[in-house]
Amino acid sequence: MKFPCIECGLCCRRSEQVPELSQLMTPSGCCRYFDEKTSLCRIYLNRPDVCNVAKMYELHFSHCMSEKEFIRKNLEVCLALNQAAGQAENCKCLKALIQHM
Ligand code: SF4
Ligand code: SF4
Repeated sequence: MKFPCIECGLCCRRSEQVPELSQLMTPSGCCRYFDEKTSLCRIYLNRPDVCNVAKMYELHFSHCMSEKEFIRKNLEVCLALNQAAGQAENCKCLKALIQHM
């Protein structure tokens, strides 16, 4: 199941919240591989496991929840990031995705 990322880029801009990404973090808290112009990851195909929802599910969560549930939990984190950033349109979109899971 493909993760329905809306490409807001907030998780990459707030990488200071993820201990596994501490080596990639710039002083602003953004990941050094985040492209501000495109809002995309510059190493997407080789990104760390923690940035790969499908891989994280397979490696660490498939024994305790369904993939759908894991995706929904991740979308809830995306929603919380967008709520904190005041991104109303993104929140609307993410809420709709969560409701349709
Ligand atoms: S916060 Fe969520 S929706 Fe936004 S880029 Fe990251 S994974 Fe995608
Ligand atoms: S490696 Fe890529 S996906 Fe992971 S936080 Fe950095 S820019 Fe985002």
